[in-house]
Amino acid sequence: MKHERPLMVRCPGCGRSTRYDPRNRWRPFCSERCKTSDLGAWASDAYVIEGASGEETSSDAGEAGDPDRRPAG
Ligand SMILES: [Zn+2]
Repeated sequence: MKHERPLMVRCPGCGRSTRYDPRNRWRPFCSERCKTSDLGAWASDAYVIEGASGEETSSDAGEAGDPDRRPAG
């Protein structure tokens, strides 16, 4: 086994596997775009924790709009 496997890492920017070697100046990112966008996101505090939404839907049925009800007249 003399095959040298390239070290693959997951790009923190987009999640795609990219080669981690000195020729990749954007490592561990896959590209300049990912690197800059990641840094920019951190700088602008755009990182949001997923699953932190606490929205509750209150169902208040029983109001107007009953098709079975006829206006008393
Ligand atoms: Zn990427």
